[in-house]
Amino acid sequence: KASMKKIHWERSMQMQTEQQTWQESPEGRKMLEFRCSLPAYKEKDAILSAISQNQVVIVSGETGCGKTTQIPQFILESEIEYIRGDMCSIICTQPRRISVMAVSERVAAERGELLGETVGYKVRLEGVKGRDTHLLFCTTGILLRRLLVDRNLKGITHVIVDEIHERGMNEDFLLIVLKDLLPRRPELRLILMSATLDAELFSSYFNGAPLVHIPGFTYPVHTHFLENILEMSGYRLTPDNQIDDYGQERTWKMNKQAPRKRKSQIASAVEDTLRSADFQEFSPETQESLSCWNPDCIGFNFIEYILCHICENERPGAVLVFMTGWDDISSLKDKLQSHPILGNTSRVLLLACHGSMASSEQRLIFDKPEDGVRKIVLATNIAETSITIDDVVFVIDCGKAKETSYDALNNTPRLLPSWISKVSARQRRGRAGRVQPGECYHLYPRCVYDAFADYQLPEILRTPLQSLCLQIKSLKLGSISEFLKRALQSPELLAVQNAVEYLKIIGALDENENLTVLGRYLTMLPMEPKLGKMLILGAILNCLDPILTIVAGLSVRDPFLTPLDKKDLADAAKAHFSRDFSDHLALVRAYEGWRDAERDLAGYEYCWKNFLSAQSMKAIDSLRKEFYSLLNDTGLVDSNITMYNSWSYDEHLLRAIICYGLYPGICSVLHNEKSFSLKTMEDGQVLLHSNSVNARDSRIPYPWLVFNEKIKVNSVFLRDSTAISDSVLLLFGGTISKGEVDGHLKMLGGYLEFFMNPTIAEMYRSLRREL
Ligand code: ADP
Ligand code: MG
Repeated sequence: KASMKKIHWERSMQMQTEQQTWQESPEGRKMLEFRCSLPAYKEKDAILSAISQNQVVIVSGETGCGKTTQIPQFILESEIEYIRGDMCSIICTQPRRISVMAVSERVAAERGELLGETVGYKVRLEGVKGRDTHLLFCTTGILLRRLLVDRNLKGITHVIVDEIHERGMNEDFLLIVLKDLLPRRPELRLILMSATLDAELFSSYFNGAPLVHIPGFTYPVHTHFLENILEMSGYRLTPDNQIDDYGQERTWKMNKQAPRKRKSQIASAVEDTLRSADFQEFSPETQESLSCWNPDCIGFNFIEYILCHICENERPGAVLVFMTGWDDISSLKDKLQSHPILGNTSRVLLLACHGSMASSEQRLIFDKPEDGVRKIVLATNIAETSITIDDVVFVIDCGKAKETSYDALNNTPRLLPSWISKVSARQRRGRAGRVQPGECYHLYPRCVYDAFADYQLPEILRTPLQSLCLQIKSLKLGSISEFLKRALQSPELLAVQNAVEYLKIIGALDENENLTVLGRYLTMLPMEPKLGKMLILGAILNCLDPILTIVAGLSVRDPFLTPLDKKDLADAAKAHFSRDFSDHLALVRAYEGWRDAERDLAGYEYCWKNFLSAQSMKAIDSLRKEFYSLLNDTGLVDSNITMYNSWSYDEHLLRAIICYGLYPGICSVLHNEKSFSLKTMEDGQVLLHSNSVNARDSRIPYPWLVFNEKIKVNSVFLRDSTAISDSVLLLFGGTISKGEVDGHLKMLGGYLEFFMNPTIAEMYRSLRREL
């Protein structure tokens, strides 16, 4: 023991010497100077003394003040100073994987080290950590997973939970677990960091934990709403939302040569933007004043127009464009690259910043471009608080972000663009004022901003709780409802009961709320349980290629486009992919056609011809890879086994897997003379959405439909559906426990004829092995 102590001490001494040497080197001195210039530096002593005197400390401060990069270092440096460097182990969590990588790399650089020395990182499937790593950045999910095997976080001295103001589900969940842990680990220190000043809530949650606020400074930002942008271009929004050229002197002098032509371009771009906005969620007055607008996409032409204005007329400075997601970003980037001004690489450096970008691309975002080159970064809301780009002077804000929203009707979360909150809009605007006074262009009128919610609801209150409940169970945290009562803001009891009930129905929990084998596999797949179920059975039955497409397809915007004026043509194009009474299988065919065309670089033409969204196809393509690697983690796919074999495309088998995932989303098909009617248990009569391939047939030769989603308008409509037989429902609806498999196997003889497929027997044999 004594010799261990000596080793620790020697290593700690060494850490101190190394750090001193670095700080005295020319680069080290420069880095230190920069660090000392950050607002966080001035609060260093206050922060450290609060941490030494309290088990929990909350730190808040403007984005970019140095919380994420500096505070973990302050702690590390203070431990080193007290010759405890080798004894400390600091974990700092981030909500997103990309900030883990960016921040850890930055912190290592500030310390003059490579990643994997004192500073390491860990995200799913990737990480760098060495024997001497004492500061580890990881995603919140990674820390939750660690708690699975290490309930007391043995050996960890400090846990820092960053970006708690975002109120993500994982963070709220982690806080309950840590709160329970604190009494068991009295020497453990917990530091919570937040951008906006909602810190009182956290302080009272942790029994009056002290707050340290880092005062920040930002330059004023000039704000333009849509009407101001129009006015500067010499136009005006009339009360009925038409664009009117009222002959005003233009402030934006872009239209010297061909004013008339210019006008029509801008006018139509803006009108497009307005038309494509969905203002249903707003107050009746706002809706009234915006009645002819409708959002799914933001007006790309309009963004292009503003970017052009900035490049042509404005002072130097980088531009940050907030968009909804990766698909929008990549389409806009393609579009801008072919623009005469914005695509000119000697004048413009065009970059993307989103959750799934490569780390080489990431670094470029922080670099200053050469003189005369303007940096334009197209970003998702990760650039709102987690990533700070220093030289931004102009911000363009589309007003939307993708968030999961809870549809209480059918418990389905979907990642859809929705309006941001006032806090987010202010945060986005603030990004323009970091180095000098800035400009912010909001692509929506003032009245829309006024109708934004003040704050966004915490995720735990707006998304279904099924995955969270599974996690609570896998961490053995006792009764789900009791546990969730201890949350910062508890979800409604009904929402909790719904989730537990659903998990029992699909066989992830048994009657006593214990995890089943299936449940345990589902906890390894961070996605909706129904998608996880499909992937699991798809893997067991070796049908992954088509099933990955279906699961990815259920996670993106509907790839089948139906322009209102060409609905018949679009429906016919979709029908072309359908021969088996299944929207899901139609998607598989559409995707495979696209994949073949894309190989010959004809993906766009293919999409155009078939009324498909090329963006959605690309998104499906990348999600497939992501889901495959998730599945790999569970050990259910063997890398020796290919994604498909001769029966992977067997229609009956695929129907069975779809049913296994979508159950209990099921309705019966009742035929009368000419057509059929549909009924579900809960709603009675339901209708098919007119885009469904099943809506076009008057006879469905199956007694049941499984569906992914119900929408209530006046009646209840089912979106994508797949027809299934009695036997598929019998065998794949609900739970498959080991006993039932045995029972079913006995009956299977009779059904084999019905399936007309001998592979079912083989499939059951492998199911039996796995479950
Ligand atoms: P906070 O967490 O308070 O938002 P950060 O600690 O992330 O702030 O960043 C503090 C400052 O460090 C930023 O304003 C920026 O100047 C600089 N910085 C952060 N990350 C990087 C990076 N990867 N490259 C260059 N500079 C960075
Ligand atoms: Mg930060």
